[in-house]
Amino acid sequence: MFEEYDEYRNKIREFALKEFTEEMAAEYDRKEEYPDELRKKSLSLGIIDMQNPAKVMIAIEELCRVDAGLGIAVTTPYFGSEVIMLFGNDRQKEILQDVYKGKYILGLAVTEPSGGSDVAGLKTTAMKQGNKYILNGSKMFITNGAIADYLVVLARTSEDPNPHHGLSTFLVNTKSKGFNANKLVDKLGVRATNTAELQFNNIELNEDDLIGEEGKGFYYIMMFFNISRIYVAAQSLGIAIGALDRIKSYIKENDIKDEDSMFRLSDVGTHIEATRQMTYNAASYLFEFKPKPELTSMAKAYGSETAVYAAESAMEMLGDKSLYEDVQRIFRNAKIMEIWEGTSEIEKLVIARYILKGE
Ligand SMILES: Cc1cc2nc3c(=O)[nH]c(=O)nc-3n(C[C@H](O)[C@H](O)[C@H](O)COP(=O)(O)OP(=O)(O)OC[C@H]3O[C@@H](n4cnc5c(N)ncnc54)[C@H](O)[C@@H]3O)c2cc1C
Repeated sequence: MFEEYDEYRNKIREFALKEFTEEMAAEYDRKEEYPDELRKKSLSLGIIDMQNPAKVMIAIEELCRVDAGLGIAVTTPYFGSEVIMLFGNDRQKEILQDVYKGKYILGLAVTEPSGGSDVAGLKTTAMKQGNKYILNGSKMFITNGAIADYLVVLARTSEDPNPHHGLSTFLVNTKSKGFNANKLVDKLGVRATNTAELQFNNIELNEDDLIGEEGKGFYYIMMFFNISRIYVAAQSLGIAIGALDRIKSYIKENDIKDEDSMFRLSDVGTHIEATRQMTYNAASYLFEFKPKPELTSMAKAYGSETAVYAAESAMEMLGDKSLYEDVQRIFRNAKIMEIWEGTSEIEKLVIARYILKGE
């Protein structure tokens, strides 16, 4: 599947191997800084093509294979763009063009201090007063939160008895009066990405800041997750292959032949192949505009567990060598795969619901 992109895949692999040096990956991980120069370079070389989701998926996989911190950092400036692409108005789509060109950085803010899994339970409000919406509340763990120019924000616009019906999405300019972002530090992994908590204090939004229709926000975000979970599965696949690369080199360099090592190598390789098939299969439905959320959730849940298993295997097999930066960074980066865009528990609830609904 997706063999037609082999040439593109090779180009991304070359870019990652050349640009994501161990020194650079370790430095940004240690400093917890966003690699903006790398973002600009990846744009100028046409590494990311947001108009083609298959290319995005392949780029994510290949970049994360070399280093997930840098790989995710250069692929997240567009985070949330699909909501605008699918439901935005002309003005919002013009802003999106500038995001694609690298003029602006985008983010998407759903999670709140009270929790991220229960999307329908969120507390941020954007109540209508005259021809304005007044945004109040706070968001937590928002990628690009302190560096974004615009954010897609999910907020409650009515107290509809059905909590799914009262939510709407807005495109919020982070220069708006009443916006405040506080960068979070000391993360376990993906430390080259920017993560922030946000406060909205009486931010005035215009009617044309509303994305799509009022009251449809919950459904827009669920559709977005159908896409973004494929990308997390691709991040996981890349991390797992990166861990396998380290295991293979170690086995060959040290001429290791014992059966336990061969069994572990074989298990990791098998999990990776299953993740690849599940991810590409779910993606092929999605990219034909026929998403199958249960297949997407399977790829995301299984893929993230594979990333953690492969990273743990690298740590265990390389022994004391694994405590140095390269492998322990893979291990730290892998864990977030099981958390963002829906924890493994949430993915498993989605899968179970679909199984029970089926014949
Ligand atoms: C580095 C980082 C970047 C992030 N970037 C973004 C971003 O850009 N935008 C954004 O909106 N969010 C972002 N998030 C938030 C992320 O999506 C949430 O952390 C995630 O959705 C889980 O929410 P929570 O942490 O509030 O956990 P909670 O929802 O409080 O869940 C806590 C635990 O309870 C379990 N649980 C919850 N509900 C159920 C249930 N019904 N059944 C069984 N178990 C359940 C969960 O699986 C989890 O183990 C980011 C998080 C991190 C760490």
